[in-house]
Amino acid sequence: MLAQLQTLAALTRVDVELEELQEELGDLPGDVKRLEKDARIKQQAFDATQKQIDDLVHARANMRIRTQEIHDKEKKLSEQQFQVRNNKEFDAITREVETIKEETKDLERELAASALTEENLRRILAPQEEELEAAKIKLSEKEQELVQLSGEHNEELTLLLAKRAEYKAKLPANVLVQYERIREYHTNVAVSVRRGSCSGCFNAIPPQKLVEIRNFKQLFTCENCGRMFYPEDMEIPTA
Ligand SMILES: [Zn+2]
Repeated sequence: MLAQLQTLAALTRVDVELEELQEELGDLPGDVKRLEKDARIKQQAFDATQKQIDDLVHARANMRIRTQEIHDKEKKLSEQQFQVRNNKEFDAITREVETIKEETKDLERELAASALTEENLRRILAPQEEELEAAKIKLSEKEQELVQLSGEHNEELTLLLAKRAEYKAKLPANVLVQYERIREYHTNVAVSVRRGSCSGCFNAIPPQKLVEIRNFKQLFTCENCGRMFYPEDMEIPTA
């Protein structure tokens, strides 16, 4: 009975470790996903601002071309004004020059406004870029953590599963069935008796039963939680 209890306790320890391993890795993939989304949102915000700036720069380039065009036209018209044959033609050219001057003024105003808008957008873009870079770094760190832990995890997992198989092979089929049934409710199936109580649920154990547990008479389970008992000072094999 001692050997069986030791195996049960060792198996329990392996199962608890397996669960902890699962839990440890459990959060990481979710964290990576969350950080990926965060970086994506920040990238979109940055791209949107950058696109606005690019559009402004592009529009200003067109405005400058237009400014040059009408400047050339104005020059041409001024020259034509000296070659007019009558007042009517002179007035027509004068009106055209006026229109061109208005357009030039409008373009200048637009150029100035566009430059100001760009300046404001760049003030938004700078912190957006900083936030984006920070988010990317955070993501890459978490990804590395996941890759590293997954590697360690696999190694440890293989080891624990091998131990588990080894312990299971030592146990009678009926005990194993009982173990797995309890494991549906508690990861720590076999627990020690501590200060006369079940260390799983802290339910007090009758004195007579305590003596029998200590003497390894048979396999005892907790009346309250169903876990298996072993004496507190029992040695648990590690492999
Ligand atoms: Zn209990």
